[in-house]
This record gives sequence, C-alpha cells and structure tokens, in this order.
Amino acid sequence: MSIKAPRGTRDILPLEAQKWYILEEIFKKMCCIYNMHEIRTPLFEETELFVRSVGEESDVVNKEMYNFKDRGGRELALRPEGTAGVVRAYIEHGLYNMPQPVKLFYYGPMFRYDRPQAGRQRQFYQMGIEIFGTREPIADVEVIKFTADFFSSLGFRNLQLHINSVGCPQCRFPYQDDLKEFAREKLSMLCADCQRRALLNPLRLLDCKEEGCRELMKDSPQLESYLCQDCRDHFNGVLELLNVLNVPYYVDPYMVRGLDYYTNTAFEFISEDIGAQGSLGGGGRYDNLVEICGGPSVPGVGLAMGVERIALAMDREQLWPEESEPEGVFMAVQDSGLKEEALSMLYSLREKGLRADTDFLNRSLKAQMKFANRNGFRYVIIFGEEEKLKNQIKLRDMLKGEQLELSFAEALDILVKERS
Ligand SMILES: [Zn+2]
Ligand SMILES: [Zn+2]
Repeated sequence: MSIKAPRGTRDILPLEAQKWYILEEIFKKMCCIYNMHEIRTPLFEETELFVRSVGEESDVVNKEMYNFKDRGGRELALRPEGTAGVVRAYIEHGLYNMPQPVKLFYYGPMFRYDRPQAGRQRQFYQMGIEIFGTREPIADVEVIKFTADFFSSLGFRNLQLHINSVGCPQCRFPYQDDLKEFAREKLSMLCADCQRRALLNPLRLLDCKEEGCRELMKDSPQLESYLCQDCRDHFNGVLELLNVLNVPYYVDPYMVRGLDYYTNTAFEFISEDIGAQGSLGGGGRYDNLVEICGGPSVPGVGLAMGVERIALAMDREQLWPEESEPEGVFMAVQDSGLKEEALSMLYSLREKGLRADTDFLNRSLKAQMKFANRNGFRYVIIFGEEEKLKNQIKLRDMLKGEQLELSFAEALDILVKERS
C-alpha cells in the first residue's frame, strides 16, 4: 500500500509555493516598514505553556492539541498557535529589559487536531505580530492598521474590520456570571458545544456558528454595558485613533475571539464573501498573558493570520499577480561530446547571477527547446559541432523568436545587460 500525507496535512507543490512566497514577501516587507523584528520559536513547547496561556478549558487545549510524551518522559505539545511561544521567549530571554515596546513577527506552521476542511488543516500556517510593553491604544491601532495595510497591499478591497472590547477580568467576571445565568434557561436548546461552554467558557457562547444558538443568544446581555471605566476609556481611545486614520470598522458585540487570554481589544478582518468561515486574520490585546506565563506584568497586543485562508480568498478573488515573464537562459547542447564545454558555459552564466539550466537526459535539440519553453526560459543558447567550429554559439530569444550568432562572451554581455 502506498503511503500518503497524513489526514489534515497538504503538500505545497511548486506552483502553489510560488504564491505563498508572494504572501511571505509582502508580509515581511510590511513588517520591515512597521519596524517589526522576526522571532523564530520551536514548533513544540512544554504542554504546560499552552495550558496556562491558551487556557485549560479552551477547545484548542481540550480537544485540538497534539500533545505527547517524548522519550525522556517530558510532556510536550506541537504549538497550536504562535503567541504563547513568543511570550515564553520574551520572558526567558529577558526581552522586557530592552527598550519597550518590543515589536516582533513570526511565520510558520501550527498544529491542531481539527476536522479538516477547505482552508483548515491540521498543520496550518500562520503569520503574526506581537507588540509588548505598552497599554496605549496607539499600540492596538498599530496592529490593526498593519493588518489593514497588509490586506490592501494584497489587493483585498471588501474586508470588514470587526472590533470589540472583551474587557478586563474585573469587568468580565460579573458579565460571565450573568451570561451563564442567561444561557441556563436555554441550555437544552443550545448545541452540545455551547452546553459545555455555558459551564466552562461562557464568552464563547457568543460566537457559536450554529444558527440556532445565534438566535437564542441574540438578546443576551452585552459586555459593553459591563465595561469598567478604564476598559471603556481604552476602547474609546482605540476607536478614536481608527477614526483619525480613516480605518473603517464595525463594532461587533458578539466577537470574542477563540482564545481565552484576550483582554480589552479584540478584532477580526472578515471577508463578506466567505461567510462564517470568513475571518482572514485577527487578534487583540493580552495584558495578563506575560504574567500568566511566569513573567513580569507586561501588556501586549498582537495579530495572527491564516495563510491557507488568505491564499484561498486570493484564489477566489483572483488577486494573484499575472504570471511572471519568462527569464533566464537554457543551455541546449546538440552533441553529447560537447557536454563538458557547455557545462563551463552554464556555470559562467550562473556566476553572473543569471537563472540558467541545461539538459540532464541527452535529449534531442528539439526536445530541449520544448523543455526550455515549458520551464519559462526567455533565452536558449544552442551549442553544437557547427557552432564549435566557428567558436560561436546561437542565442535564441524565445519571446521574440529572434536568433543571433556570436561568441559566448558577447552573448554573456548581452544577457547581463538585458537583465539590469
Ligand atoms: Zn475592565
Ligand atoms: Zn452552539
């Protein structure tokens, strides 16, 4: 029996990888513009880190985490999200001693044992940013504006920014109690997940995707009226700055985000066309997370975006740039006795930084030309007995269909000039 990729994983073949490369480049460029610095953390961490940060009662830790004992008996887990590891590193390396804020970005695979569907894999990729060391609304807005700028440079025009405040523990606890009370009367009519949430994680009752639950929770108390003065001022500060920067938003009292560690600002960028699955990225503030993970009391705010979802949305809206122009040189050899000489030409081309390749299978000249065409080479150098006698090569421009006879040195000159 043949071995296949595990359920919930996907191979990213070259044509798709080229698209991902575009996303990564634009993301990294945006990070550079915003003065964010890259951090790379391990793909697995001590399980305890996620239990503490993401929350023991969360679906992510409870049902979806890949945790295991290694051969040394350590309790480890594949990271289900990116923030916890970055927070752990921030504490472990004393980054709170550096001038604040510390602005970081990451990119890489995350793992959740979930039912696979379009845009949702068990190994999936996220790009994210984190800003540590300031509680000022300007930091929240920095993260939100970054996200808006990133999506608009990808070409998205119809994303909606949903924003809410989930308050601080002080104002959230009485609210959660009232929410629990509200849900208790309707418990038997809620879905199985919501029945569990009602006990353990009542905030999540608000963003159940089941139509029935949404209807039942429609008249639930709203967190907005429970916010303490501090949280209210902070939220208003964020909204005011968004107004100043002309970033349109929609205050969505039902948006609470999936992870437990958020405080105050929570936001998502939602594509209207994809419906409930439409969140392309989001984040929020986590003022207690560093402390929860064993560090000093340092506030933070961040963003995470799903690469698969964004790529799917780009497919759907046909936002990928046109295929790139053919470029580079293919070294076609007519006579296998000339291979060695052709090889030294090939490496001279590469030394000049030109994209170059040759035939590895002793194919006919015609087959080599076809190969060069299919592989997007702009030029072909043809080298055979006839050329060798004249100490020349043929340089064929596949785009224009023109052909020159000249020395290799002359051809190299033309190709280098052409490229710059
Ligand atoms: Zn509060
Ligand atoms: Zn439900």
